[in-house]
Formats: sequence, C-alpha cells, structure tokens
Amino acid sequence: MGKKVIVTGDRPTGRLHIGHYFGSLRKRVEMQNSGLYEPYILIADVQALTDNFNNPDKVHKNVREVAMDYLSCGIDPEKSTIYVQSMIPEVAELTVFYSNLVTIARLERNPTVKTEIAQKRDLFGESVTYGFLGYPVSQAADITAFEAELVPVGEDQLPLIEQCREIVRKFNSIYGDVLKEPEAILSDGKRIKGLDGNEKMGKSLGNAIYLSDSEEEITKKVMGAVTDPGRIKKDDLGNPDICMVSYYHKLFTNPDDYETVCNECKAGTRGCVACKKQLAHNIIEYLRPIREKRKYYEEHQEIVDKILMEGTLKAQKKAKETMRKIKKAMKLNYFE
Ligand code: SF4
Repeated sequence: MGKKVIVTGDRPTGRLHIGHYFGSLRKRVEMQNSGLYEPYILIADVQALTDNFNNPDKVHKNVREVAMDYLSCGIDPEKSTIYVQSMIPEVAELTVFYSNLVTIARLERNPTVKTEIAQKRDLFGESVTYGFLGYPVSQAADITAFEAELVPVGEDQLPLIEQCREIVRKFNSIYGDVLKEPEAILSDGKRIKGLDGNEKMGKSLGNAIYLSDSEEEITKKVMGAVTDPGRIKKDDLGNPDICMVSYYHKLFTNPDDYETVCNECKAGTRGCVACKKQLAHNIIEYLRPIREKRKYYEEHQEIVDKILMEGTLKAQKKAKETMRKIKKAMKLNYFE
C-alpha cells in the first residue's frame, strides 16, 4: 500500500512557540518518521495575508522563521515537502473555481469562520473582507491540489475540513469523479495555555515561549509567569492547581520532581522564585537541541532557502498534475 498524502501547515505571522510544538509539530515529526505518510507542509503566506494584508513585511519575514522552526524541530526535507503557498499558482486558480461551489451563507455559517471573525473585530469592524470569509475555500484548494487523503487538525478546525469535503462532493457531482475527498484526523496534541493563564498562547497576548527564545528570554518570561495569588510569603500554603509555573512543570519536569514541586508548594516549604528558576532551567534544557539546530539554520540561510525552493518546486509539479486533471474535467483544456 502506498503512503497516504497529508497536507498541513502554518500561517507565517510569527515565530512558532511551544504551543505549536506540543499542539501539532511534535505529531507531524512523528507521522513523518513513521514512513506511512507523504507529508506536504505549506507555509501559508497567502492565507496569512487575509488578516495581515496591510503588513506584507511581517508575512514575508516570517516565512523563513517558520521554515527554520520546522527544520529545528525535526521536520526532515527528505521526508516532508515544505513549500511556500503563494508560489503554487494552481492553488489560487483552484480557489477561484471552487468559489462557484460555495454560497456566502454557507461560509457565514461555518463555526470556525464565525469564531475567527469575532476574534478579528479590531481589524474588520462590522464588515469582514471577501478574502477572509472565503479562506475555507482556499484551504480546500490547498488540500485538494495535492490529492491529500488526510488532514491533521485540532477539533476547532473540523468545520473547515467538512467544508472542503462538501466542495469536493459538489465538484465531483458536476464535473466527474476527479477530486479526492480528504478525511480529518484529530491530532492528539495538547493545547498549551499562556504564561498568564490565558487559554491561548500567542504573540499578541505576550504570553508565549518561542522555540527560538534565548536562555535569558526564557528565564525572564518564566519569572513573570502567573502563580497562586494567595501566596505572599514563602511559608504560605500554596495551591499548585492555580499556578502556571506548576502547569509548565508538568510539561517540562520529570514526574517525580513534579510531585515534589506540588507537595512542597502545598506544604509551604517551596519558594516561588526557586520554583520558577528550576522551571526555567528545565525548559532551557528541553529546548536546547531545537535552539542549537535553529542557530545553525540562522547562520546558514542559504540552506533554508534551498530547502524551501526544492520543496516548492516539488509541490508545483504535483499541483500542476492535479490541475491538468481538473481542467480537463471542467472542459478548460483548450488547445491540448
Ligand atoms: Fe507556583 Fe511553585 Fe509558587 Fe507553588 S511554589 S505557587 S507551584 S511557583
């Protein structure tokens, strides 16, 4: 049996943080190394522009940053194809074709789109752009251009895959059985809270630890993490369940030491400063191999560019093959 094609990716709107790592990156590396899949990993710059159209420098700069994060986490260009979305014109072309198969009302009903529009009120006010409303359509193009069979997603992204499947079914019912209907696979990644206790970790919230953060930056961020507000003095009895330092110890500290953290906190025999220093040390050590690998790529940008270029060329070839079949089915194959 052949390898199953998977399509996944990130929007280059910032460097990747530990939330991305535990949420999806680790899983992608695992899938890549299993030998069962053929991963296409897109750096979704066109999609990033849907809500950053007024900031092209940010998107441009972060394409390389995201690529370096991928490589330093173990995405292997020999096994995974990393490519830049805007350099695959077929995806834009397909988005136009698919836009005839989706109603505006259906897009407005998509729960993921609804949530995201609500989060972007500052940018869009009461009137959202056509591009942002339609991004599930371009996502369907991303997926089907590579004939993906599987799309790893978090639960909140499931409505986007359902929308893609609807487009595929509609297309096939009109033009013939050409497109593959993809399936979502729920990634079992963890959603990591921010250092401030916010459910979401993100740049705009200032509560993230980046894979590329220096030792000093990690220490400074951890020292500012939210702790049990009831603890004023060192011997106050603490509650690790409401402390973000304890929350992160659970991720980065071995289980025995984590138990000690909790017990000493509850007994009032552990100071918050020492507790934070121990956590900062553990995070620094955990991320050390990633940081060191990233430093190598930062000093060898030409290697990153070569990987992106080769991945993009391979992706272009695949998308062209799919497009040939699609245009034939749509009777847009003039002069062939
Ligand atoms: Fe949090 Fe550690 Fe302070 Fe307890 S001792 S409140 S776990 S920082």
